[in-house]
Amino acid sequence: MTKLSEHFTLAEFLVSETASRHGIDNTPDERVIENLKLTALVMEEVRDLVGRPVIITSGYRGPALNRAVGGSVNSAHMQGLAADFIVPPLTPLEVCRMIAASDIVYDQLIYEHTWVHLGLTLKESPRHQKLTLLASGSYAQGFVA
Ligand SMILES: [Zn+2]
Repeated sequence: MTKLSEHFTLAEFLVSETASRHGIDNTPDERVIENLKLTALVMEEVRDLVGRPVIITSGYRGPALNRAVGGSVNSAHMQGLAADFIVPPLTPLEVCRMIAASDIVYDQLIYEHTWVHLGLTLKESPRHQKLTLLASGSYAQGFVA
């Protein structure tokens, strides 16, 4: 069991129902694994902030899996720089607000209703965007309940 950080394993960031259902190989390369370690470290900060275990629902998505789930073509998930997650019994909206009020550094924090998306960037200036995914597929600024 390869560990990315104290509480997160590589497997947690690779698992995908869609990939197994469609027989999609979602194996990351070394570069992606290095990025996943960064993502796991930020998820450790989230875990500390909320004081509970964090459940990753989607981490790395290789190109084939990203297409299968209809992900954005520039999705940070394809670089191993994003995680979708939940922290029961907290609601995703509560978690978004807690992260936004903390000093955790992120590029995009997106309230996606049933989960939280946290995306990182390797660029020097993270955008710190706070967004809500709308039913139309576009994004609203801030967290819209
Ligand atoms: Zn996501």
